[in-house]
Amino acid sequence: MANIRVLSDDVHYTEEHILAKVQYETAHCKRTGDTIQVTPRRRWLEVRTARRPQRTGVMLVGWGGNNGTTLTAALLANRAGLRWETKEGERRADWLGSLTQCATLRVGSDDDGKDVWAPMSGVVPLLHPDDLEVDGWDVSSLDLAAAARRNRVLDVEVQRALAPQLRELRPRAAAFDCSFVAANQQERADNVLPGTRAQQVQRLREDIRDFKKAKSLERVVVLWTANTERFAEVRPGLNDTADNLLASIERNETEVSSSTLYAVAAILEGCTYINGSPQNTLVPGCLELAERHGTHVVGDDLKTGQTKLKSVLVDFLVSAGIKPTSIVSYNHLGNNDGKNLSAPHTFRSKEITKRNVVDDMVDSNPILYAPGEHPDHVVVIKYVPYVGDSKRAMDEYTGELMFGGRQTFVVHNTCEDSLLAAPLLLDLVVLAEFCTRVGFRPAGDDEYVPFHSVLALLSYLVKAPMVPRGTVVNSLFRQRACIENVLRACVGLGPESNMQLEHKLA
Ligand code: NAD
Repeated sequence: MANIRVLSDDVHYTEEHILAKVQYETAHCKRTGDTIQVTPRRRWLEVRTARRPQRTGVMLVGWGGNNGTTLTAALLANRAGLRWETKEGERRADWLGSLTQCATLRVGSDDDGKDVWAPMSGVVPLLHPDDLEVDGWDVSSLDLAAAARRNRVLDVEVQRALAPQLRELRPRAAAFDCSFVAANQQERADNVLPGTRAQQVQRLREDIRDFKKAKSLERVVVLWTANTERFAEVRPGLNDTADNLLASIERNETEVSSSTLYAVAAILEGCTYINGSPQNTLVPGCLELAERHGTHVVGDDLKTGQTKLKSVLVDFLVSAGIKPTSIVSYNHLGNNDGKNLSAPHTFRSKEITKRNVVDDMVDSNPILYAPGEHPDHVVVIKYVPYVGDSKRAMDEYTGELMFGGRQTFVVHNTCEDSLLAAPLLLDLVVLAEFCTRVGFRPAGDDEYVPFHSVLALLSYLVKAPMVPRGTVVNSLFRQRACIENVLRACVGLGPESNMQLEHKLA
């Protein structure tokens, strides 16, 4: 598909940058009694985007897991244009499920009034997956071919074709504290770093430098796709500030989780850190450290299937004036993620991120809900080994209609969890790299300002988005519109208004 080139006095394409000027509009609201006074605010913003994606590598924490092996195989298979036989016929490698590789956005309309669509990478240059290097850590020492066999996600033909390359890939030794995950994870832990927490951070930093040097990389993204940990305690003196967190690591405090050690190592090495699981890795001290080092962090937990659908359905119901009163989600799965989540303390982390996703939508409509009123919202996860990576999600949504009527939806979803997650991991890396190339400034200012350390732009891809300030947005459509409109701003196009008055007026 074609790249777009914007013809406007407000956009300049130089060898290195795209320089664009856009009007940014907000509305300031003030409540007085029953009235909301609204003051529109408009200002010119200049957006500068470096055109060349950096040479980038991703380091996966949990490289040998279902998601890690699936993403790695997808990178290799797509790079090689792999084709293989299935009982339905020939299949070739693709990136179905990836926002950056397989989705399009509407750019405008042509002479006939027809919509014109482009891929995201056609609007601004994005990192190509074929150029992404991969490395990582795992507590299990299995090479990636053996790990893929154990994980039972990939078609056997794909495993065979990729085995020579996968066999060469061996996870680095991991920082691991089994007290943060289910005890049943200890049995695979034969590849664990010795030493204190401070020594482990040191070693993780050396690993990052080693990867960067070996592959001549300009940027490394560290992405946690390892097991869900329990929440760490957050308390003054332990991890509430950057200095306290660093001091706690020096003292080898046992309440500093392994995931926080990876995050600290990544931040100290100037890498973006992404938390693909629900636990509170990014404790306040970690966030302060990222801000201090000017690096980006993204959290928490991948938003793949059930939650994605929930953030669409509840948004639809509440914005349609229907009142969801009960949301019940059952899952069962039989992969190692499910095995780990069968312990109450790790399940609790998952439950928290899964349950908070409707809060902002409920709060948005005081006509439906009185202050403090919420639908009943229950989440159950069970481990059923037989179904392997093929996760089953069953949801029941009940809502109130007029005259006391009730509406109940029952949704059943079956799919390989890791085939949903791998494209998302790619999107996180591609968009995180893009975010390091963009700067904004009010027209006339000297300095471009980068995105805040807490990268809320990637909310679309995570279950419990972390935001630097303001409110969390869980609505999938609003999250997607945010990404689209930022990309449009980079090339001087205003936000997509969807008014299309050119077709609607008499
Ligand atoms: P998995 O159990 O197959 O893989 C996790 C890997 O992490 C394992 O190989 C394990 O050995 C390794 N590991 C554990 N602790 C580690 C540590 N401290 N350092 C390095 N490696 C470590 O799980 P998965 O299915 O790949 O899922 C990974 C994570 O992603 C889970 O936390 C899961 O909850 C989360 N997640 C997955 C999805 C999905 O759709 N697949 C969706 C949302 C979130």
